[in-house]
This record gives sequence, C-alpha cells and structure tokens, in this order.
Amino acid sequence: HLTALLAISQNRKLIRMRILLDEAQLTEGVERLATEIDHHFGDRPLTVIAIMTGSLVLFADLIRRLSMPQRVGVVQASSYRGGLKSGDLTVDAKMLIDVAGRDVLLVDDIFDTGKTLDRLSGMMSEFGAASVKTAVLLHKRTDHIVELRPDFKAFEIPDEFVVGYGLDFMDMYRNLPYLAILEPHEIEQTAAEAKS
Ligand code: 5GP
Ligand code: MG
Ligand code: MG
Repeated sequence: HLTALLAISQNRKLIRMRILLDEAQLTEGVERLATEIDHHFGDRPLTVIAIMTGSLVLFADLIRRLSMPQRVGVVQASSYRGGLKSGDLTVDAKMLIDVAGRDVLLVDDIFDTGKTLDRLSGMMSEFGAASVKTAVLLHKRTDHIVELRPDFKAFEIPDEFVVGYGLDFMDMYRNLPYLAILEPHEIEQTAAEAKS
C-alpha cells in the first residue's frame, strides 16, 4: 500500500511523497504492457514514437521488451507549463521520423484529459501513417475531454499529481525510479525553492 517517503529536493531539503508504484511494480507493469503489444502486432514491423519528455524512462524500458522489428522516433509535446494544470498543448514535430505508410505506436507516460494523444494521433494520420495505436503507462481516473482512449495501458491511478519514472514537476523528479504522489503543500515548497 501507500508508503511515506522522503526525497531530497533541489535545496537538499526533504520533500514528503507517497510511493504509488515501486520499482518492482513498474517493471511488472511495463512487462505486461509489452506482452499485450507483442500479442497485438506479432512480428509486424512497428514505428514506435516517444512523446517527450515524460515518456523517456518508460520508452527506454518498453522498446527493449518488444519483440518485433522497430523504427524508433520522438516527438515533443507539452501542456503543463511549469505547473499542475494542463494548459495549451504545444507540439514540436521537427525531430519526428517519417511515418508515412507505417504502423505507428505512440507512447506516452500518462493519459489525463487525453488532449495530447488525441492531437498526436491525428497528426500521425495526417502524416500518412497506415495505422495509429497508443500506449500509456498510467491512466488517470478523471474527466477525459476527448473520445479517444489508449489502446494499451498498464495502470489505472487516482486523480492525483504524480512524479517520477519520467514524470516531472517543473522538470524535476523525472529521475526517481518509483512513481510518487507529490502532495499539494510540498508542491508549493518545491515551486518556491525553484524560483529562489
Ligand atoms: P493530457 O493531454 O492527457 O491531459 O495530458 C497528458 C500529459 O500531461 C502527460 O504527457 C503528462 O506530461 C502531463 N500530466 C498529466 N497528468 C500528470 C501528472 O499527474 N503528473 C505529471 N508530472 N504530469 C502529468
Ligand atoms: Mg507529456
Ligand atoms: Mg510535465
């Protein structure tokens, strides 16, 4: 269950977090996700696209567990401008590889409102992808504002702000090997420190 934990912040102060998923649980989740994706695609070649930056850690673990031949690329999307609330979505596709005629799998860290994957799925189709599927590590129990749902997901989580395993708050905590809930009052402290 939820464990109390103290992680060290930028200023070497202690920040309280609650571990939601530990390393072993994350590994098991990624394995499950890879097995499902393998099952679906068989040995068909797949173009796997990481939605940066949040999917960085998941992506590295996931693609090494998939069995089919892969083309690998990235695309940048951001909507959380240094805060907690999802803002306007910005997409930067300058680094995207050619997806025309390919079976594409978009990989993101978390499905929240759904705006990011909805927009990027549409973009892949516009770029001529033969098919587009989506995979996420986390699926938040919240109000999704789009019709699209992820094709593959590892965990359902409560509507709380989480960090670690790639997910950030103001670009911090992505490197934590576990997934933790950042409490609202700790968030304020982190934000104040980051500005100082
Ligand atoms: P959506 O477009 O589905 O609303 O949001 C997806 C993006 O918002 C994710 O790729 C992620 O970057 C960010 N996001 C949503 N929920 C959380 C959260 O609880 N923690 C963090 N760190 N990022 C989140
Ligand atoms: Mg993201
Ligand atoms: Mg973020």
